[in-house]
Parts: sequence; C-alpha cells; structure tokens
Amino acid sequence: MDLRRLLIVVSAPSGAGKTSLCEKVASSLPDLVHSVSYTTRSPRPDEQEGKDYYFIEEAEFLRMMERGDFAEWARVHGNLYGTSRLLLEKYFQDEKDVILDIDTQGAAQLRQTYPHGIFIYILPPSLEMLEARLRHRKTDPEEEIQRRLKKAKEEIKHYSGYQYVIVNDVFEKAVHQLASIIIAERCKSSRFDLSSFKELSLDEL
Ligand code: 5GP
Repeated sequence: MDLRRLLIVVSAPSGAGKTSLCEKVASSLPDLVHSVSYTTRSPRPDEQEGKDYYFIEEAEFLRMMERGDFAEWARVHGNLYGTSRLLLEKYFQDEKDVILDIDTQGAAQLRQTYPHGIFIYILPPSLEMLEARLRHRKTDPEEEIQRRLKKAKEEIKHYSGYQYVIVNDVFEKAVHQLASIIIAERCKSSRFDLSSFKELSLDEL
C-alpha cells in the first residue's frame, strides 16, 4: 500500500450513527471514498445494491472467503460482512483515501495488515440514546434491537484500541471532528510527497 494513502477505519456500536457520519464526510472531503462492503444480510427497504452494500448469498460469500478476496471479514448479528481486497486496492490506485465502516472484529484484522491505518471509534452519547436511535430507525424487529443492544454493550469496551474517539451527540459536531482528524492526518510530514520539489535534494532541506 502507498503510505501516502489513508485507510480510515471507523467502528461503533450499531445505532451510533457511523454510516451517516462516514457518508457525510466522504461527500464533503475531496478524494475520499466510503468503501462498499459485501454482506449476506437482506437489504433494508431504503438500501441500494452497490451503494449501501453488495448483497450476496452466503455460498458466494464463502467462495470469496476461500479465494482470499476479503481484506477482512466477520460474522455480525448472524450475517457475514467483508471488505473486498481488490476494491481497496482499486481505490488506492485511483489515488483515493478510503473510509471503512466496519465492526471491531474486522478492525482488529486490518490493524495487523494495515498497521498505518487510522482507527476511529464512534460512541453514542449514552446507552439510552443508542436504544432510542435503534427504535427510531424502525427497520429492525424487537428481537434484533435487543440483540444489537447487547452486542453494543460488549462492543463499547473496544474503544481504547482505537487512536481516536468521537462522541456522536450532535451530528454536525461529530462530522467536523471526523473531517478534522482526516485533514490533520493528510498533513502529516510522513505523507508529504517530496517529488513535487524535484530540484531540491534531501541534503538541502
Ligand atoms: P448493518 O447490518 O447495520 O449495516 O451493519 C452491522 C455491522 O456490520 C455494523 O457494525 C457495520 O459496521 C458492520 N459492517 C459493515 N460492513 C462490514 C465489513 O465489511 N466488515 C466488517 N467486519 N463489518 C462490517
């Protein structure tokens, strides 16, 4: 991987608002794409193939897994989710930074393979607020909401493995914080490309 490119990994308990945050930041900053994952979950009414996810059958997912097509994958709430290695490489070849919205198991895999990645954890303001958001979404049955809340309580404990934490209490504020982290990371001297100053040798700097 070209170290000048950013791999931004965002995790959060379900309902903390990370997908909306990632989409907003990807549409506001230049050269940043929100990676589209593969999943065996059924599409929700408002979801579109190729925009929200690539929806595939479990057999196809397992074939892709065996071929090593995934940069990371995980079973979350009984469904399989994975990030295509090829898609990631394509984004980097196109000189784009990539923001991934994935669970903590997937993030742990990427920490091994992409140690230069930027790992950001999004927290809801409180568990009560998280429950209210999951209910407000009106897309999941009660059983699913309870399952997601239980998982959220376990997931929240993983925040300390991430370099940055954002509390999503006010959406615009959280968007601003996420964008600021990405902008600051883009300015790091380690990502500066000296080749645009061809006439300078390193000794002269
Ligand atoms: P949802 O079904 O609500 O869209 O997503 C459920 C969980 O799966 C969320 O925590 C989401 O971040 C995670 N997820 C989505 N895509 C991927 C992926 O490609 N890999 C992993 N590991 N998790 C994913």
